[in-house]
Amino acid sequence: MATIDFSCAHCQQTLEATDDMAGEVLECPSCGKPITVPRPEAPVQAAATCPACGQAMESGSVLCVACGYHTKLGKKIQTDLT
Ligand SMILES: [Zn+2]
Ligand SMILES: [Zn+2]
Repeated sequence: MATIDFSCAHCQQTLEATDDMAGEVLECPSCGKPITVPRPEAPVQAAATCPACGQAMESGSVLCVACGYHTKLGKKIQTDLT
């Protein structure tokens, strides 16, 4: 479990929360005003979407499960059964 460091928008008090608290509204222990825990920045992942159909692909995957597009070959390898 990761921790999120952020500061109160009202009094600039440095605060810490766990990432499962992201998006929740807390009461600042310093000034008592409501503050929203920011969401941690999403980790950067390469090759997130299929260039053919735009569907999300598993990171590290070269074959789109939605349309059969192979990113290394640059074409769909799924057999067309029509
Ligand atoms: Zn505060
Ligand atoms: Zn695709």
